[in-house]
Amino acid sequence: MTKRLILGVNGQDGILLSRLLHSQNKRFIGVGIQDKPSVHTPKTMPYYALDIRDTAKVIDLIESQDVDIVYNLAGLSSVAQSFKDPQTTLEVNYEAVNSLLAEMFGNKNNSTKRFFQCSSSEMFGVAKEGLQSESTQFNPQSPYAEAKVKSHLVSRKYREDGFFVSCGILFNHESIFRPTAFVTRKVTSSVARIKLGLQENLIMGNLDATRDWGAASDYVDAINRIVEHDLADDFVIATGISHSVRDLVTFALRTVGLEDQFNALVHIDSNLLRKSEVKSTVGDASKIKRELDWSAKTSFEELISEMVEFDLEINAPKN
Ligand code: GDP
Repeated sequence: MTKRLILGVNGQDGILLSRLLHSQNKRFIGVGIQDKPSVHTPKTMPYYALDIRDTAKVIDLIESQDVDIVYNLAGLSSVAQSFKDPQTTLEVNYEAVNSLLAEMFGNKNNSTKRFFQCSSSEMFGVAKEGLQSESTQFNPQSPYAEAKVKSHLVSRKYREDGFFVSCGILFNHESIFRPTAFVTRKVTSSVARIKLGLQENLIMGNLDATRDWGAASDYVDAINRIVEHDLADDFVIATGISHSVRDLVTFALRTVGLEDQFNALVHIDSNLLRKSEVKSTVGDASKIKRELDWSAKTSFEELISEMVEFDLEINAPKN
């Protein structure tokens, strides 16, 4: 039976993929940088605490555990943070991937192992086309995006050399496991706290930016289809619909019946505006629909209301 390894198992996508593989009775192990696995990962999952920059240890694990498929979901995921620490972003989001690929495929011409690289819609940056597909030119605007472009290109090189290296180009994808550094969770958590009387208002940055936001639970299913496909390739993973940050706040307030209070509750802080901002993203997911029969199932409204409900639950006073 195929054995799989999730790098970055304690992040949002790692948690959701580990749950998906567990529900499908797949054999897999998880790697994270933390001493212990997230409490949200399956209890039966063998866990190894490793930094993916420690290539030799990751390779030892792949060899000793006879791993067939590696999902690389590890990395620094915050664009804002990448401006503060471009060096670590480059090391983790590119150099580690480059070394790992070199060790897995560089000196071997017969490896049948599979590697999935989590690429990002941030690579398109200030996009050259209104609807971004696998062939849209990259125009990265942050250290995060620059590192992701480099990893994407080196992954493609190994694929061209005949190895099974696939990339998912993931547009923003959210869930209850998203940290509040990201705008969706910041909004759902704040709106829940306002509803519960724990917070007075919502301080925001750019309300006019638009994002193609999908549900991370749908996206890990897409990732799995990509690694199980007979051919290695690149696939955009997106919903094809873009909403503004203003829409996001409006939906979240509507969920708790406070939509008419928008102007009173929402304030703009110019410190939260970004110097270099990607104004809009919209993905063209027609290739993955056509070839792997995948499309996003969860609507934006469902996703946001699910996240608000969860935040209401965890913030509610305990008796
Ligand atoms: P990103 O698309 O990967 O940068 O994901 P984020 O969730 O961090 O940001 C999405 C969009 O929301 C960006 O255009 C931000 O400028 C915008 N935004 C507006 N207000 C905020 C805020 O308070 N926090 C964050 N993180 N983003 C905000």
